[in-house]
Amino acid sequence: MFKRVLAASAAMALALGSASAAHAEAHVEPGGDELRAAVMEDMPGLIELYQDLHANPELSFQEFETASKLAARMREMGFEVTEGVGQTGVVAVMENGEGPTVMLRADMDGLPVIEQTGLPFASTRTAIPATGVETGVMHACGHDTHMAAWIGAAQLLVERKDEWSGTLVMILQPAEETGEGALAMLADGLYKRFPKPDYVLAFHDAAAAPAGVIGYSKGYALANVDSVDVVIPGIGGHGAYPHTTIDPLVIGASIVMRLQTLVSREINPLDPAVVTVGSFRAGSKHNIISDEARLQITVRSYTDEVRAQLLEGIARIARGEALAAGMPEDKLPVVTVQDPYTPSTYNSPEFTERVMAGLADRFEGRLFETPSVMGGEDFGQFYRADPENVQSLIFWVGGVPMDQWEASERGELELPSLHSPFWAPDAPKVIATATEALAAATLDLMPKNGG
Ligand SMILES: [Zn+2]
Ligand SMILES: [Zn+2]
Repeated sequence: MFKRVLAASAAMALALGSASAAHAEAHVEPGGDELRAAVMEDMPGLIELYQDLHANPELSFQEFETASKLAARMREMGFEVTEGVGQTGVVAVMENGEGPTVMLRADMDGLPVIEQTGLPFASTRTAIPATGVETGVMHACGHDTHMAAWIGAAQLLVERKDEWSGTLVMILQPAEETGEGALAMLADGLYKRFPKPDYVLAFHDAAAAPAGVIGYSKGYALANVDSVDVVIPGIGGHGAYPHTTIDPLVIGASIVMRLQTLVSREINPLDPAVVTVGSFRAGSKHNIISDEARLQITVRSYTDEVRAQLLEGIARIARGEALAAGMPEDKLPVVTVQDPYTPSTYNSPEFTERVMAGLADRFEGRLFETPSVMGGEDFGQFYRADPENVQSLIFWVGGVPMDQWEASERGELELPSLHSPFWAPDAPKVIATATEALAAATLDLMPKNGG
């Protein structure tokens, strides 16, 4: 869902200037252990799976083929698999003795984007999204890499069943891009019909970090995302006789300007917040004063309090500006906040530290704490559903091919962002790194002798 993660990660960029980190090759490196060797053995199969997923993307809540294809693999591996959880979601459970419950999540949906990567396995699929207009479909957010690594981690953990003890819950989530899938699975009994996790883990590929590096933030990692529509009535008429009208464009313009003071004058400067008016539409002709204007606003925050303050502020400003223009009480702007919204993603600080400490040696020179971002992910729902008992972490795995990264460092290349029709990550590096990280972290969280 987010456009560009790790964007301002100066620390990461600097560190990667060093020779060792810049050559984080996805093969068995000196110091690579048995787990890494096993990942490399599995890579040809995982790449084949990735290319198949990439060529066959499906839109949010339409992930039927994707879900059944991967559910079948999980069944073959010995998981107890339930399909159709939250429409197209999949839950695969493996109980393996006493111990904690660890949940690994991958998201399945592609985007309504016409692929332009030129890859030999590029998607040529089309589908009809909610807008009703047929479009190309592409895994432009890299969820195909998430699914391939998720299968990769499952394989490693099944092969090492005698090395861990506890319950492994592996879920495939639909509709991350619309912000609805996690909630749909929870509403369908994810934490009631199946073992409730103590720990939830996921990763996202990153279009602003070099391939094979891992980035993480403690605490708030991604923002609350609200979409707000404002419909501003006016009293229309002839452009030459403005005194007989009330112009909704002027009211709209005043609202847009006054909204700029929400973050700058009302929110504590130490609390991150964004209010962006992304669309302002009104009118049809030079000499007609319109009878309506419409705004579309994206609102970003981390805490519930700041979110409430911003949404209240938007409603108050819309109303106030219309009243100031002389609109009657029964023709004031209508402000609608899209429901459900995407809540912020919180990485449990202690859990994050524990997982990253466990990965530190294995990924030496490739592991970085990175700034949080104002993008959104509905992964945060899995924590919010039971913050007392669930700890969660989503981390980034860089995907930019090294030659492109270096060219962009020299200022010779503009990198495509996530959701771009040109986004073509170095999938082998993303998948190898994420598979190993997910498996190693899970083994660490479920040690054989209690722990
Ligand atoms: Zn996305
Ligand atoms: Zn995504």
